[in-house]
This record gives sequence, structure tokens and C-alpha cells, in this order.
Amino acid sequence: MPELPEVEITCRGIAPAITKRKVTGVVVRNPRLRWPIPRRLPALIAGKTIRSVQRRAKYLLLEAAGGWLILHLGMSGSLRIVKSDEPAGVHDHIDLQFGSHALRLRDPRRFGAVLWHAGTNVLSHPLLAHLGVEPLETAFSGNVLYAAARNRRSSVKQLLMDHTVVVGVGNIYANESLFRAGIRPATQAGRVSAARYDRLATEVRATLEAALKAGGSSLRDFVHSDGSSGYFQQQYFVYGRTGEPCRVCGGPIRVSRMGQRSTFHCPTCQR
Ligand SMILES: [Zn+2]
Repeated sequence: MPELPEVEITCRGIAPAITKRKVTGVVVRNPRLRWPIPRRLPALIAGKTIRSVQRRAKYLLLEAAGGWLILHLGMSGSLRIVKSDEPAGVHDHIDLQFGSHALRLRDPRRFGAVLWHAGTNVLSHPLLAHLGVEPLETAFSGNVLYAAARNRRSSVKQLLMDHTVVVGVGNIYANESLFRAGIRPATQAGRVSAARYDRLATEVRATLEAALKAGGSSLRDFVHSDGSSGYFQQQYFVYGRTGEPCRVCGGPIRVSRMGQRSTFHCPTCQR
């Protein structure tokens, strides 16, 4: 699944090819994504210039006159810049054409979304209005987590994955950040000290930035038509490593279920 680093790298990858470029056509091959692609979309955006490409949480926001195109990659989506006449595959559901090249969405599982928001304030859209702080921006700190944790009975891991508190910390990065901060995922959020939340915020940022760095080298996958998804391959401390030796102490990594998600931790290194 594309996580925040993949979406950020996608944003950086596609922006140069479509910013200040006019949409010359829209090809919708299959409108049945998580929500149907609006039937009027081609009429709404064709002929307009993309003014900017931005990211909010895992949404990509393409600004045009009179509105915004909101894109989400869902479980399996990827965006690439292709030649307009490159034959589409069975999972290539929509192209935004820019003359000789096109922005193409491939999404085998079709949990992605392509929506139109009329008006200038895209952040008021119902999908975006209640989102928390961006983890890579300076507003994110241990204080944000500590304040949100007051009187909360849920676990620290669930707090970290609560998008109304901080966005873009998916299951992989929650597991990894908690390991790096030495905090056991099941710990009740309200019982973690301010100092430990400072450390956790630092590790969330470091984990995401390491992924961005790893992804920078695979940027080509997003802008060239090699057909690969472009999701990053990384070395994890705990994620997906059930029973394998901890990279710090050598003890076995344990797995449990928490809020429907697999949770990995080292009982020795995390307290
Ligand atoms: Zn360990």
C-alpha cells in the first residue's frame, strides 16, 4: 500500500511534468474506483491549466481554475507519466493528457479515488477537513501527541495512527517509530510521558525521512513507464519480522493484533 513517503515522492515526481501545463484531454476507461469518477470530470478539467501539485496526508491535490482534482492511491494505486499514445493496461483506469504525455493512474484493486472539488478552499473538503498535523512539518512535535493523549484509554499505537491527530503514519511507520522510540505499542496513550512523546515524534519524522530518502532513488519508477508500482523496499526493525531476531538485542520479534492491524514489537527493547 502506498504510504505517505510514496505519495510525497509521487507528488515530487509528477509535479514537474504537469505543473503549468494545460490538460488537453481526459480518458476515463473505468470510472468504478472507491467512489465513481465524476461523469462531468472531463468537461470540468479539460482545457484548464494545472496551477500547482500539492499533498495533504495521502491525498494529491491538483489545483486548476475553479477547483481542485483530489487523487488518492488507495491500496494499490500508482501514478506515472507516460507517452499519450502508450497502450493502456487493464488496470490503467484514467489518463489526464497533457499533449504528448499523460498522467496515468493504475490501480488493480480500485480503492483509489479521483474527485473534483469546486472552489478554492480544497482543505474544507469532507475528506480533508478533519485531518491532523503533517508529520514532516514543524507543527508536529511531542506536544501534539502528548496533548491528544490526555485521558485517552486507547494504545499509543492507535493514537499514532489516528489521522485526526497526525496524518500519514500508517501501520508500517507506527510499528517502526515505536520500536525506534523504545515504546511498547500496547501502552495506554495517556500513560506515556511528555519526554517519551518528544522522542516518539523525533522517531516518526526520522522513519518517514529515511523512507523518503530510500524512495528518492526510485523516483524514476514514477516518471517512467516501466510498469512497476514504485513502492519502496526497505529494511525494517520489526515490521513483518515475526520470530526473527531483533536487530538490536537478538531476541525474537513478537506479533499481535491491535485494532485489526498486525503489531510487531521487541519485548526487550520496548517498554
Ligand atoms: Zn530487541
